[in-house]
Order: sequence, then C-alpha cells, then structure tokens
Amino acid sequence: MTSMTGKCLCGEVRFTASDVETSYHVCHCGMCRRWSGAPLFATTVGDVHFESDADLAVYDSSEWAQRGFCRHCGSNLFYRLKDSGAYFMSVGAFDDPAPFTLVGELYVDHQPGGYRFAGDLSQMTQAEVEKLFAPPQ
Ligand SMILES: [Zn+2]
Ligand SMILES: [Zn+2]
Repeated sequence: MTSMTGKCLCGEVRFTASDVETSYHVCHCGMCRRWSGAPLFATTVGDVHFESDADLAVYDSSEWAQRGFCRHCGSNLFYRLKDSGAYFMSVGAFDDPAPFTLVGELYVDHQPGGYRFAGDLSQMTQAEVEKLFAPPQ
C-alpha cells in the first residue's frame, strides 16, 4: 500500500506511515481496552516518520512493547514492539479512514460481553496471538 498521513487530536504530533496495511485487526486484550477505552483498532505499517513529535510520549507497557501517545491531547497513536521496532498504528489516527477494512479480531478470549463486531472476521485467542508474535527462544 501507499504512504498515508495522520495526526493526534490536537495536531501537535503528525506522521507519515509507509506501506500501510489497510486490512486491520481489532484487539480485545485488557491492556488495549484500558489504554484506548475500547478495543484497539490498529494496523501494521512499513515505517513511520514523525514530522512533528515534540509532544510524542512513549510508555513502556510491557517487557516487549511500548505505546505512543500525545502528551498534550492524550490521543493514542501506536503500539511498538521493542525488538523489531515494528509499529502498529491506531487506525483512527490516520487522516483518511476510507481505505481501511476490519478483517480480524485478536484476544477474542478476553472480549467482554456487551458488544460484538459484525462480519466474517478471523478470530485468534491470546495463545494463538502469542504463538504467532513470540520472539524465537
Ligand atoms: Zn495531540
Ligand atoms: Zn491488545
């Protein structure tokens, strides 16, 4: 895919992401729900360049990952793996929502009741996700 631009709510943090994957996943895990106030819509990108990042803050959310947000307006911007540096950008941070399609759900065994996504989505449990993303031992 192409490069796409995005920003936080106040506009202090602006970025351009390359090779944006427009087929994205939603994560139901407890950390994503607490961080974003809802399940997290995020997608992989090739790389990210921040044109403006003076207000970008990064939080060490686990041994293997960090979460980036705007310290001024609080917008959640990305999840980043420490080892590979791979970014998962918040879908809602992109300027153009039109190209994106939800294709799958992660940590489905952590989804609380009360809501459900429509459509024929792939589903992975915590064990299945961790098997896929676990670093080689
Ligand atoms: Zn902001
Ligand atoms: Zn999650």
